[in-house]
Amino acid sequence: MKLSALAIFFLAFTLSSQTSSFAFPNPHFFPNFTSIPPTLLPNITNTTWNAFRQFAGGRPGQRFQGLSSLKKYFNNFGYFNSTLDAKSFNFTDEFDDMLENAIRTYQKNFNLNVTGELDESTLNKIVQPRCGNADVINGTSSMTKRAASSGSIHATAHYTFFQNMPRWPANRRDLTYAFLAENNLTETAKRVFDRAFDRWAEVIPMTFTRTESYRQADIRIGFYSGDHGDGEPFDGVLGTLAHAFSPTSGHFHLDGAEYWVVEGDVSTSAVSSAVDLESVAVHEIGHLLGLGHSSVEEAIMFPTIASGTRKVVLASDDVEGVQVLYGANPSYNGTTTSTDENRETSGSGGRFGPILGFWVILGLSLSFLLI
Ligand SMILES: [Zn+2]
Ligand SMILES: [Zn+2]
Repeated sequence: MKLSALAIFFLAFTLSSQTSSFAFPNPHFFPNFTSIPPTLLPNITNTTWNAFRQFAGGRPGQRFQGLSSLKKYFNNFGYFNSTLDAKSFNFTDEFDDMLENAIRTYQKNFNLNVTGELDESTLNKIVQPRCGNADVINGTSSMTKRAASSGSIHATAHYTFFQNMPRWPANRRDLTYAFLAENNLTETAKRVFDRAFDRWAEVIPMTFTRTESYRQADIRIGFYSGDHGDGEPFDGVLGTLAHAFSPTSGHFHLDGAEYWVVEGDVSTSAVSSAVDLESVAVHEIGHLLGLGHSSVEEAIMFPTIASGTRKVVLASDDVEGVQVLYGANPSYNGTTTSTDENRETSGSGGRFGPILGFWVILGLSLSFLLI
């Protein structure tokens, strides 16, 4: 009885201290990642996804305890035909034909050898942190459709769109974006998003302007933890990093539990699960504009990004795809900005040199430990 009374007290306290029933991480900023005591660092891997490694060598006809969770993974990313299979599918632990087909499609999408088996290179890709958006929309293996339908060796475009190609209408070329107030983002973090929007504005005739009015903004950016009301719960450190909706929804959600690096060289981070915020932001903005995932590994719209890596420059595949939707920016000269100099050197806030090391947003993981 005492325990339940305590639980009710904590529940009441928790609810009363939030503006809604969803968890809004209040990101913490540190001048240097290495200043965080190692004992405060949570798990550096996504345990659910890493457990998939136990299925190494798995092939059709076999049975593995827990294989159903891998089926859920593939279902989440669109690899089962949602209208025909997923609803009636009971996610058994059998390595059945449906799983084999999903693996084959996945292997095609990620340029792997198409074996239909859980070989090492396939598992290495499966466990990589990635975007939460599906690769396959309504049962079509969209990431490879263009490649398969083209016989030309010059047809390198693998960009895709959402079903029915939704895009911002012609009378909406000057979009605004705003940040969820509860996240209390610093100016440094907000500038990461400014730069990410700039990269797309450079190639298409659109502008993106930061506004304080979250409710009226075209694009609303928020860090969330776990289930946050849209049926796409976040999963803690690594796993899915963020997701964004197709036009003209404008919802852009990031997993508050990640170690988001907002300043400095992510590749030299002492924490292996550090994720470069701008790299993820550039990718998700592609979705907000109407792009789906691409099977071109160099493309921003490729679904996975290894932790500790930075990829912020639009590839020709990204540029071609978004220009199909909106046309080219008249001032675009054919090459995207390859450095981060623009905003960082011209911003009124001055320049942050490498001496400051990493500025990191720590989400819920660390919040829990500090409460
Ligand atoms: Zn994505
Ligand atoms: Zn969401």
